[in-house]
Amino acid sequence: MPVILRPGKHKDTILLIFRANKVLMFTIFLLIAAYIVYRAVRQILRVYECPSNEVLTAFWRGKLRPGSEPHRHLITHLGNCEKCQDRLQLLRHGLPLEDHLIDKDQD
Ligand SMILES: [Zn+2]
Repeated sequence: MPVILRPGKHKDTILLIFRANKVLMFTIFLLIAAYIVYRAVRQILRVYECPSNEVLTAFWRGKLRPGSEPHRHLITHLGNCEKCQDRLQLLRHGLPLEDHLIDKDQD
């Protein structure tokens, strides 16, 4: 025999399920929003992070594919960081990059 849900009889159950779904949907929405904010903040902070000697050398040798994420990050970073501009100058003059030129606080 089929079970027929009558709103009057199952009103409390239906309201409970509806409220539980609202809480679940809101929780999922909050988690997604928090993740988007986390990714955006991480992306912004990465721009201020000085690249390693290996990444800068790869960039100088043309081994970072133009348009790729590491390439775009480095271009943006070089526009804002005088220290890395100096490091790039050292590479241009054929001088090795030394670790002491990297600010350890930013690692
Ligand atoms: Zn830098």
